[in-house]
Amino acid sequence: MKNIALFGATGSIGRSTLDVVKTIDGFRVLAISGHKNLKLLHEQSMLFRPRWVILTDENAAKDWNFELPVGSELCVGMKALTQIAAESDVDIVVSAIVGRAGLESTIAAAQAGKRIALANKESLVAGGALVKQIASETGAEIIPVDSEHSAIFQSLQAGKRKELERVILTASGGPFFRLPEKDLKNVTLDQALKHPTWNMGAKVTLDSATLMNKALEIIEAKWLFDLDMTRRELEVMIHPQSIVHSMVEFHDGAVIAQMSPPDMRLPIQNALTYPERVSGGPTKRTNWSIDQTLEFFAPDYSKSKFDALKLGLETASLAGTAGVVLNAANEMAVTAFTRGELRFDEIVPRVRKTVEEHDFRQNPTLEELTALDEKIRKDFR
Ligand code: NAD
Ligand code: MG
Repeated sequence: MKNIALFGATGSIGRSTLDVVKTIDGFRVLAISGHKNLKLLHEQSMLFRPRWVILTDENAAKDWNFELPVGSELCVGMKALTQIAAESDVDIVVSAIVGRAGLESTIAAAQAGKRIALANKESLVAGGALVKQIASETGAEIIPVDSEHSAIFQSLQAGKRKELERVILTASGGPFFRLPEKDLKNVTLDQALKHPTWNMGAKVTLDSATLMNKALEIIEAKWLFDLDMTRRELEVMIHPQSIVHSMVEFHDGAVIAQMSPPDMRLPIQNALTYPERVSGGPTKRTNWSIDQTLEFFAPDYSKSKFDALKLGLETASLAGTAGVVLNAANEMAVTAFTRGELRFDEIVPRVRKTVEEHDFRQNPTLEELTALDEKIRKDFR
């Protein structure tokens, strides 16, 4: 039995993780966390009977009036995440909180030398150098849950790291891939929340529409796979069907891809069971009795539509404080868009401006990253 601490249990990745745990053998949910959705957190507690039920939002805790199963303890506040990540009984921390809020618990899991099933890409975007350094010292394993990074991780098994020519990160292109550029300024929140191939939480769906999700994923890939951006070890290809989840090319020209229907439960399952592959999981299977077409388009970097990709590539090359700033500015810009305070086509330029104007440093400490993150959010208007 492997014990899981699932941070962000009430979200899209969290719910999918519980679907996986329900259907495969060998895993027990020891802790779950939720931020505001008390009812769902309670329902999940009744079903999975975890030792710890963490309610991270201290304000929401005032409205908690549920009975927990015998043996379950309610813990309130973000501190509980870092404490429970380090508990000796915890084998795997599933990092599925959205946004910068996932950083401290990811770091705590790395410090405790756990396996981290990492969905929270923002923690690597903001603190990739630190997280990786800590994990290399403690032996913590970071197994990606993000579908593209899981695909790269799986495809890399076909060769040695030193044989890698490049990683080809695929992007669905989001809902506006075929929309004329001039129409992007009129995009509404409802339109941006409809993703053509994936069903995800609101923030990552909006990031997919602006292509900032791919910018975050470029930076995430750089840290996960130690890619040399100056040697162009990463390319992006638009693949609207979201069947090929990413590819790697080796020095001999062989390209290895991982394919499956778009369903996050497969990369989640892989992150839990690696290096084993198990049957019985809840994932949709490929239907080989119907005709299928897979398309790949190279992004046209002369079009402003792909500015987010360019910004992601530049930020990954810069490293240092660029990632934490890009992430904080993006979180603020997305919130401003959802409130009707920023137009859709203003999001990426605002993020770029914030990255370009900040006081860049190469090797920030966690305290410096945190201070800068807060400053960017405070100054954002
Ligand atoms: P979501 O919005 O559906 O769920 C977020 C979870 O985080 C919820 O459990 C919520 O309670 C919790 N949370 C929100 N704000 C918090 C805060 N301030 N402090 C503590 N907890 C907080 O998000 P999601 O779509 O499940 O995405 C989670 C992460 O996984 C994100 O980093 C996202 O980029 C990544 N990801 C998601 C998908 C997907 O299919 N949903 C795919 C790839 C990567
Ligand atoms: Mg992804």
